[in-house]
Amino acid sequence: MTDVVDVVVLGLGPGGEEVAGRLAQAGFEVVGIEGKLLGGECPYWGCVPSKMMIRAGNLLAETRRVPGMAGASSVTPDWAPVARRIRDEATDDWNDQVAVDRFVGKGGRFVRGWGRLDGPRRVVVGDETYEARRAVVVAAGAKAWAPPIPGLAELAGRYWTNRGAIEADTLPESLVVLGGGAIGVELGQVFARFGTEVSIVEGAERLLALEEPESSTLVTEVLRREGLDIHTSARITAARHDGARFTLELDGEAPVSGDRLLVATGRRPDLAALNVASIGVDEHGHAVPVDDHLRVTEGVWAVGDVTGVGAFTHVSMYQANIAVGDILGEDPAPAEYQALPRVTFTDPEVGSVGLSEAAARAQGLAVRVGHYPVPQATRGWIHKAGNDGFIKLVEDTGRGVLVGATSAGPSGGEVLSMLTLAIHAEVPVTRLRQMIYAYPTFHRAVEAALTDLVS
Ligand SMILES: Cc1cc2nc3c(=O)[nH]c(=O)nc-3n(C[C@H](O)[C@H](O)[C@H](O)COP(=O)(O)OP(=O)(O)OC[C@H]3O[C@@H](n4cnc5c(N)ncnc54)[C@H](O)[C@@H]3O)c2cc1C
Repeated sequence: MTDVVDVVVLGLGPGGEEVAGRLAQAGFEVVGIEGKLLGGECPYWGCVPSKMMIRAGNLLAETRRVPGMAGASSVTPDWAPVARRIRDEATDDWNDQVAVDRFVGKGGRFVRGWGRLDGPRRVVVGDETYEARRAVVVAAGAKAWAPPIPGLAELAGRYWTNRGAIEADTLPESLVVLGGGAIGVELGQVFARFGTEVSIVEGAERLLALEEPESSTLVTEVLRREGLDIHTSARITAARHDGARFTLELDGEAPVSGDRLLVATGRRPDLAALNVASIGVDEHGHAVPVDDHLRVTEGVWAVGDVTGVGAFTHVSMYQANIAVGDILGEDPAPAEYQALPRVTFTDPEVGSVGLSEAAARAQGLAVRVGHYPVPQATRGWIHKAGNDGFIKLVEDTGRGVLVGATSAGPSGGEVLSMLTLAIHAEVPVTRLRQMIYAYPTFHRAVEAALTDLVS
């Protein structure tokens, strides 16, 4: 049967839910299709539960810092209540049925099922075909991706992705994390803080390879200090499971083993399953290419992780806003990513925005760099235990504006906000130096880094 409606949204994660809800509220007849849980990866297996786990791990770490600060304390970490709390809160406040009711309350029509594109304005779900008069919006996100390591594919279903790690009710004694990007280091630190023996194995030269090298050094030092075993530049020759333990064989190094294996080596959309070839997109690519209004082709838009930009909830919602404006014919401002912020929620947090120093130099910009260690700032000195961090600023001296910045440290993700604003609004460095920075805050280290920039 074919059902003709105004808009079909394929996938209802943060990006799709925003598009579908807004267009339904605007009076369009909207069908929202979701194969799993309305809300997507972020609230159930991504940002939200991982940050709840991190909050619990950070509380433990903070409590363990007490002896050096204000007396003695001992803590017995217990994982089960944390895991239960995450589930309970999700069930009470933030679940699929609540999200479905909210969408339907806005006037949307919800369809549970896995959809496939069937040409520019058609989506098939089982025996049903939905044809869109106005727009199809592809918002199907991405899935955990595993590299082609010999033996790893055979272990699929046995090893954890982020979903297994977040659903775990019991702590493994030991955990091997394959991948030292944001998800790998965040979850690795949480499990270690609860008492799991954690090894992180990363093929690149450094953890957080997309961030400034100083961020990699910082996080590596902190994690090693907390007892994690870190392997970088690892050449993994095989993965196996002997019935009890997972082992990664490394070229030139001893193998690394653990009771559990978490594969955190990135996320990719399943373009073949979406049948993107039917809208002229290469299904062997890594993303659905979009223009600056999130258009794919006539009558088709895409938002979120499926576009290959950022892979963050805030990007999916930013893009959703532009796609909605475009579909409504409001001529929204085009998408721009020069001030794209990102935060790795380790303790210390690593917030960054815009270009790294190396990326700015690679673009041929005349670059000046300012740096200031958080422990030397008054607030860092007061904070003491757990005060690791730094501010790094990258200036394009040709224009006299910042083009990149990192704020690593306690609340590094919050300090980032003023740097994001500075880059987004292209505030001249001279104006930033004339600003008043509250004493004694962590963000006051930005002023010191600005001074370093011009000295
Ligand atoms: C462990 C972890 C931690 C993270 N932490 C953060 C963080 O702190 N901050 C941050 O900004 N981002 C974080 N992210 C990333 C964030 O979760 C994603 O960027 C975000 O969820 C992307 O939203 P989306 O709408 O593009 O896709 P998704 O959330 O992936 O949603 C896509 C939806 O489409 C559905 N779908 C897919 N194919 C079909 C189909 N054929 N038919 C019907 N439905 C379909 C899926 O079931 C899913 O519900 C984290 C991710 C992980 C894994």
